[in-house]
Amino acid sequence: MIDTKHEIVFHPEKCVGCGLCYKACFVDVIRWDEENKKPVFKYVEDCEHCFYCESVCKRGAIEVKPNYASERLLQHFDRYR
Ligand code: SF4
Ligand code: SF4
Repeated sequence: MIDTKHEIVFHPEKCVGCGLCYKACFVDVIRWDEENKKPVFKYVEDCEHCFYCESVCKRGAIEVKPNYASERLLQHFDRYR
């Protein structure tokens, strides 16, 4: 597994437990904590930095911070060189 050092900052105090971020994530990064009605950012290294979760959260509870120096992210940009 590649350690991408991406970061997703979650502010639980702003979260209202709507589940939209969990539904928006098309990869397996976000899981759902049914007991606490909160997202769990479990596999951050698999994040594709699409910002869907951040943009669907109207409470501003999520900040996606890609590591732009990571090898994996640079591979995406290589396609456009
Ligand atoms: S979209 Fe925002 S408010 Fe809704 S569950 Fe996710 S973090 Fe919480
Ligand atoms: S940025 Fe995209 S891939 Fe990453 S956790 Fe959010 S929805 Fe999932």
